Amino acid sequence: MTGKTMQRSPEQGEQAMIAGILEGSPDAVGVAVIRLNCGCRKMAAVSQAGEPASKIIMYRDQAESICAQCKQDNGNYMRVLEQFISWKESEPDAQTKRMIAAKVLGTTEDLPN
Ligand SMILES: [Zn+2]
Repeated sequence: MTGKTMQRSPEQGEQAMIAGILEGSPDAVGVAVIRLNCGCRKMAAVSQAGEPASKIIMYRDQAESICAQCKQDNGNYMRVLEQFISWKESEPDAQTKRMIAAKVLGTTEDLPN
């Protein structure tokens, strides 16, 4: 019972953003990905301690800027569809991952046990 299949994986456009964020954040162990109901994305690198390791980045795939609603409410959490952490290649152990996810996302339900 690894629950591995439950783990979400980033889409192609997100993957490119994640790679860029990780490159600019040497302390990061992963990137929190938040998908909003308007199609925009919010991302931030997270450190081993579950602290932000980069600025929060908002973007919209194949668009020059985020949508009007996001500009207004800054991607309100009420509009979050999905959120997960995309881990760096040498990902931390399961316990650390749960701790980080709980701290960053406020939930552990999306993570494998
Ligand atoms: Zn938006």
